[in-house]
Formats: sequence, structure tokens, C-alpha cells
Amino acid sequence: MKRPIAVILLLLGFGTSFAFASSLDCIPQSEMAVISENFKQFQYLADKEFCNDDSQTWHLLSSLMFMRQTRFSESMHPSQDEFFSGRFAGNWYEYFIGRINHIEVVSNCPKGTIAYVYMSGGSTMYACPLALSSQLSALDRTSVMMHEARHIDGFPHIECSRGPRKGLAGACDEAISDGGSYAVTVETYAQLSKYAEGLHPAIKAYARASAILYASETFDKPVRMQKTQKLMLFAGAGDQYLMNPKSLELEESGRLPLYGKVTLRGPHLILFPAQKELPAQFLFAQAEGTIAQSPPLFANDYNEQSVVERERFLDLHMATQWQARLEPRSVIMACNPKSDEKQTLPLPSGLSAQNFIYPNGYSRESSVGHVMTREGEVVEIGCRSLRAYIKKSSIKLDRAYTSLFQVSGDTFGVSEGSLYKVKGRRSELQRIGLEGSIFDMTFYENYNFFDAE
Ligand SMILES: [Zn+2]
Repeated sequence: MKRPIAVILLLLGFGTSFAFASSLDCIPQSEMAVISENFKQFQYLADKEFCNDDSQTWHLLSSLMFMRQTRFSESMHPSQDEFFSGRFAGNWYEYFIGRINHIEVVSNCPKGTIAYVYMSGGSTMYACPLALSSQLSALDRTSVMMHEARHIDGFPHIECSRGPRKGLAGACDEAISDGGSYAVTVETYAQLSKYAEGLHPAIKAYARASAILYASETFDKPVRMQKTQKLMLFAGAGDQYLMNPKSLELEESGRLPLYGKVTLRGPHLILFPAQKELPAQFLFAQAEGTIAQSPPLFANDYNEQSVVERERFLDLHMATQWQARLEPRSVIMACNPKSDEKQTLPLPSGLSAQNFIYPNGYSRESSVGHVMTREGEVVEIGCRSLRAYIKKSSIKLDRAYTSLFQVSGDTFGVSEGSLYKVKGRRSELQRIGLEGSIFDMTFYENYNFFDAE
């Protein structure tokens, strides 16, 4: 990663302690007795407490416990938009056992499938390896279980006819107002984020981003969401700021726990620490800490790599149906959301990669991405008919921006620690009081339901 020397010296300013969200360690015997009454498969475990042994059984049981134990505010107000209606806010465990009484772990599932049920009778939920992996938490599994139970009520999915999941079969519901399975997904995450009591702030922040991600990508009819576009700036010793792109007003917003590269998976922020022995981790906007759960897909691949392999990592772009990992001389791309196949494309000769930029705005839907090279040229990458391509872009910029986003109609770039408003080959320094100290910038949206005072 290219970085100004001043920032390396400031590394000492970062805290080294992690604020990991903790969770349950043992399930008491009294609870085991109740659960095994509802799920006969656990009856052999009914007469004693069950402690975390990281087994599949533990992951299932702790998720049922999460469902049983999580408490919510007395009054849960519906959102002014479509995030939260409260219609699934009743007792989740009772809802689930009313529809599912057996959970079967299966080993063979299509890529990306977490769990499934058969709608034609039966009350078994099938849990795929992904459901039991370190990429999902008990909170995610709870949301998945509620989603699957909703199918039993007669709510199937449709093929997405538009939006980020366009063309994917069984990956959308018509409208959130129909109250199908994806509505349950959004409602459960939104409820956990906004109204759960006693949950670690990082877990609530993760649930917030998950609610936003599903609301943005799994409905054919766009979900009504009240939101405001911002830029998040990282400066000095790791201070985070949210900037209004119209007024350039800055608002302090947490602190980066470690120096590194911040990437996006829609509303999820993922930090790749400069200290390569540390794994990529979820980052949150208001210093909520982090969670033990590994970010998914290419970020999870990164976490399984050696330090030597991680050294080559520069940046990550995670679109909904494709992903690209930037390395100094090449881009590694996965264009088929249904397979693990990767393609490695070299950069055009004479060019070396620096970072991704977003001159057309951040989009998980677009099939096109842009690479800023150290030489100041822009290279276009993308997927066509599930195959990756790379070519020189017609976009010309006046310098090699270390970060660049179009937001609310204007394009902002960071170069040598300062913010510029960019108009093609011209740019204008923006005096916001952080000149020379900005080391990264990303796109961020505030949502009224979650973020209003
Ligand atoms: Zn489903």
C-alpha cells in the first residue's frame, strides 16, 4: 500500500486493544431441556449444560438461544420509511418453533446459499456449511432462521428483474410491503440494531449495515429509505469524520482502531490493517469496536492467506455479483456469483495499480470498476457475460488520487493528504482543515431510522 510517511509515524497513535463483542459461553441445562423439547434432535443433550465447543451443534444451539434471550425495548416505533414495520416483532422463538421442528446440517449447497426449506410440507430447515461458518454469527443465524420460517407460511422468492441482483433466480421478493422472507430479514436486522437491549454496539452496528444491504438489494420494487450521502474521511492518527458533500461540513465520527485500507461491501465497512498479520475486520462508523466474525467472500479469502500473500493486497471492490482484488501488477476477479472461479488479469503494460476509484459513484450494481494507477492513468475493469476484462479508461484525471468518489453530483479525490473537488483534468483544493493529513476516504450513507438522534 502506498502511504505517506507521516502516517506511518503516527501509527503509534492507534490503540492495540480490540473491543470484540462477546457472546454466550454456556447454555444452562434448564434452557437445554426446553430447546430439546422443541427440537427432538437435541434430546440426548437435555440433561446437562452445553458449552461452546465451536461445533456445528453449538452454532445451532447458540442461535436458538440468541432467539430466546434477546430482549427488545418496550416500545418499538415503526420507521418513517420501510425499514421497520414491527409486524414480525413478536416472540421470534415461538414463531420459529411454530413452523420448524428439525434442523438438518447439509454439506452440499449452491454457492452463497445459507439455508433452505421445502415449502411443500415438512418442518425441517436445512443449514448449509456457510450458515455454520465463522462468516455468520448467532445474530445472522437468527435472522436466517426467521427468514426460512417465513417461507413455510407460503412466501417463495422470484427472479430479480432489476437492481443489483438482476437475473439471479430466487434472490428477490417483489416488494418489502408484501412481508415475505426478505422483509423478515430486513425487519429482524433492523429490530436488532435499533431496539435490542444489552447487545454490544458493534453487533448492533453490524445488524444496521445488514438491514440496509438486504433492503437495498433483495426487492424488485425499491424500498423507501430515508438517507443522506456522505464521505467518510480518515485523517491524522486515525480520526474518522463524516463530511457533507454539499456544505463540506465535518462531523467527528469515531476513530480507526488500526491503520489500514478501508473498503466497502455496500453499507459494510471492511478494514484491511496495514499490519498484515492482522485479519481484515468489520469497521463501524462510530467507534463501536469490532466483531470476531470474518467479513465474507474475497475478504474471507484474504483472512485465510499467508502474510506473504496479504502483502500483495492493495484494495478490494465487492459488487453484488462480482468482486475484484487489486494487486500491484494485476486484478484478480470473480465474475460468476455462482462459482468460485477466479481470473487474474494483468494491468496494461507500463502501469502499476494503486487503488480503486469511483468516478461514477459507488455502486454495487454496476458491472464496471475503475483502477487508479500510480502513473496517474485510469484503467477500467468489469465483467461481461460472466468474464472479466481490463482496458485503459477514457477517464482522464489530473493526478493519481489515493481515493476518489462521485457523491451527490460532485467528485472528490484525495491526493497527498488533501481533499480536491475534481472536474476531469482539473481539480480544486478544498480547505476543510485537514490539509495534508487525510490518508483515506470512503463513501457512507446516514439512514434516518438508524442514525437520527
Ligand atoms: Zn429464502
